[in-house]
Amino acid sequence: MLNLVLFGPPGAGKGTQAEFLIETFGLIHLSTGDLLRSEIAAQTELGIAAKKNMDKGELVPDAIVIGMIKSKLEAHKEAKGFIFDGFPRTVDQAKALDVLLNENNTPISAMLCLQVETNELIDRLLSRGKVSGRADDQNQSIIENRIAVYTQKTFPLIEYYTPQGKHYNIDGMGSVEEIAGRLKAVVEKL
Ligand code: AMP
Repeated sequence: MLNLVLFGPPGAGKGTQAEFLIETFGLIHLSTGDLLRSEIAAQTELGIAAKKNMDKGELVPDAIVIGMIKSKLEAHKEAKGFIFDGFPRTVDQAKALDVLLNENNTPISAMLCLQVETNELIDRLLSRGKVSGRADDQNQSIIENRIAVYTQKTFPLIEYYTPQGKHYNIDGMGSVEEIAGRLKAVVEKL
């Protein structure tokens, strides 16, 4: 089984590159951001509660996202592997993911970290906001808060995966195709 964590700050291109990795390696895409936005669209209790955090650029509580991932893993027992996009975002989420995956003896294969300069992240997110309609992509101070939350709570995950020999840095600057090529080269060697 191939279980990949696609890692990087907001605007690093995780969603775009996840699409490429799914097609190339036949994986199931699990994006907690997409799952949360579906809950908001369906106006579920979970979605209404999560929206309050998301609109401010804050993280949704760990228990909510871990619960969503758990049910998706259970629903796809036949999968060849998963690509985790936007999850885990805290060390507690990473530990919970390891427990869930160990139940099926299918550990994380690699954490692929897309590296993009901060100015480029802000430009990409503001441009995306014009077409996506995502409230959290349209306001520069919310974007800056998301990047600050990433730096404070999510970036330390590198220290969680590095001692396990699973952390790979990927240059996330350049064309979509160039970045996809870099990812493919790393994954093929796993
Ligand atoms: P994304 O689409 O990954 O940029 O996520 C959009 C927003 O959803 C984030 O700013 C958080 O508020 C929330 N979110 C997505 N994934 C997680 C996660 N793993 N843990 C906590 N909050 C999350």
